[in-house]
Amino acid sequence: MPSEFDVIARYFTRPAPNGTLGVGDDCALFPVPAGMQIATSKDLLIEGRHFYPDVDPEALGHKALAVNLSDLAAMGAKPIGCLLGLALPGVDEPWLAAFARGFHALADTHGCALIGGDTTRSSRDLTISVTVFGAVAAQHALRRDGARVGDHVWVSGALGAADIAYRLLDGQLPADEERLAATRRALEWPMPRVELGLALAGLAHAAIDISDGLVQDLGHVLSASRVGAQLQFDALPVAAALQGLDHDTRIRAVLGGGDVYELCFTAAAENEDRIRQAAANVGVPVTRIGHVTEASGLQVLASDGRPMAALPRGFDHFPGS
Ligand code: ADP
Ligand code: MG
Repeated sequence: MPSEFDVIARYFTRPAPNGTLGVGDDCALFPVPAGMQIATSKDLLIEGRHFYPDVDPEALGHKALAVNLSDLAAMGAKPIGCLLGLALPGVDEPWLAAFARGFHALADTHGCALIGGDTTRSSRDLTISVTVFGAVAAQHALRRDGARVGDHVWVSGALGAADIAYRLLDGQLPADEERLAATRRALEWPMPRVELGLALAGLAHAAIDISDGLVQDLGHVLSASRVGAQLQFDALPVAAALQGLDHDTRIRAVLGGGDVYELCFTAAAENEDRIRQAAANVGVPVTRIGHVTEASGLQVLASDGRPMAALPRGFDHFPGS
């Protein structure tokens, strides 16, 4: 069986970018671009909670980094590098090779090289923790507390597909092979909106990436900014794969569904054209879904113009506590 050091050397040691000291020493070293601040974030993925034990390891490697890059995107930060923590129940080389392939491919796409980490044995389950580093000019960072009354509220991409795939796989929705095929990619291969985040830095007022559901995540922006918002349900970009599902399932998926990794952001109304141009330049669809209000709370207007009564709360690891 390969040792811990064989695993690191075979699967997680790659040439570090110029000027960077990568895997192999006590710490990694990387230069901080002049005038910028470091944006850093960590996500933890636990077997049985964030992924199924039999998930495609290449997709898992991709997603472990994607969810972190999505946080950099939501801050408007440019990726610099990342750290990978792995607790492995054993050494399964084909599994590690596929995991590393998915991880490094996305890292290469976004110039976010793996520069260090930690590898240990776990007694049972697999745990993955990724930390990313990015750079952003402090005054351009897309913080959650920057939304202003009168701002437009925007969202990138389309909503709902990952939630439907998750609920099909989890048996909460009746088996439907065709719909699973149409939604599974959204769940397992999310594409972090790094380029869009960079294009919005200094242009939008506030942003968040949707990991726990639009209602919940936009709610974080609204409370941090001490404002409210009104959205039009009919304006929301619903993933095409949701067609034909009953109304309640769609509402739940679109407003409460997690694992979306699209950006929800607010920007001054007069910047509407610039926002559309910036999004077009990076080839990401964006949709205006509502506006920021002085009255606190989130209102979603249904087709008849009336506020929807109960909004899905989205995901919470400790509900009710
Ligand atoms: P230390 O004992 O100083 O913590 P380790 O033996 O844990 O060092 O790690 C040796 C080197 O390998 C370090 O540079 C560390 O950052 C890197 N490393 C360990 N595990 C990983 C991993 N999963 N991915 C990337 N780099 C790793
Ligand atoms: Mg170590």
